[in-house]
Amino acid sequence: MKILNFGSLNVDYVYTVDHMVQPGETLASQKMEVFPGGKGLNQSISLARAGAEVYHAGQVGEDGLFLKKLCEENGVDCTYLKEIPGKNGNAVIQVDQSGQNCILLYGGSNRTLTKEFIDEVIGHFDSGDLILLQNEVNLMDYIIERAYEQEMIIALNPSPYNEAMEACDLSKVTYFLMNEIEGGQITGKTQPEDILDVMLERYPDAKVVLTLGKDGVVYRDKEEQCTQGIFKVKAVDTTAAGDTFTGYFLSGVLGGDPVAEALCMASKASAIAVSRQGASPSIPWKKEVEETEL
Ligand code: ADP
Repeated sequence: MKILNFGSLNVDYVYTVDHMVQPGETLASQKMEVFPGGKGLNQSISLARAGAEVYHAGQVGEDGLFLKKLCEENGVDCTYLKEIPGKNGNAVIQVDQSGQNCILLYGGSNRTLTKEFIDEVIGHFDSGDLILLQNEVNLMDYIIERAYEQEMIIALNPSPYNEAMEACDLSKVTYFLMNEIEGGQITGKTQPEDILDVMLERYPDAKVVLTLGKDGVVYRDKEEQCTQGIFKVKAVDTTAAGDTFTGYFLSGVLGGDPVAEALCMASKASAIAVSRQGASPSIPWKKEVEETEL
């Protein structure tokens, strides 16, 4: 089965500062680093490292060509990743001495998708292929409609949850992969059990994966419920924990693993990612996950 990840790729400019820049202030930063980012990119890399056949569809701007190269180096098929004139999506991130951050986002190439491009890409996929989506590109509602018409299985990480998500017909989604915050925003509930109750009431055929940070993960569909605790590690950087989880879980279940096994592999992969610095560079390859004892 093919997996099409239609999603964002970002350039993250990270400035190390003494304090956050104030209105009217000019501040020299001590260090500036450029990192690949975007939930779409992280999840494609996680899928590929987990061993799935993944195609990334989206757009990179002139300053984002290295993101495409990075995907290719990781085994992500970039046939449907378009290079366009103008700026890539980016984030300007200030990190102060206490480790707090301030993030300024610019959608750029991630937010200029056209219906024609979406039609063309989805036309290359068949009934039963899976499409994975996050909410960092424009025309989310249209992508969901088209994928549904094409009889693709739809997996959604509703992040960030906002009005663009509310405009989507979520009854067309099969897999919901979300953390407690997003689960709370969709359902208006705070407790995991209540979130799952509402999700299954609203979408009886859904398969819901609710990650709970240090409390692990809970999965529910109309037939089964499964939980999995975390693998204990020294947490260094939790960025991309959820993205790692999404890639490994989907790769597992679509490859035929039972849900409990896929949850276990995904939790172990995420724990490894949490134990080291960075977003996509921290995502382990499957061999490492299999060989690591935690
Ligand atoms: P997100 O990154 O989307 O907010 P979570 O914080 O829920 O997602 O984390 C996703 C998964 O990563 C968790 O279900 C868990 O398996 C793993 N994880 C998160 N934090 C830790 C941690 N401190 N130690 C080990 N595993 C963790």
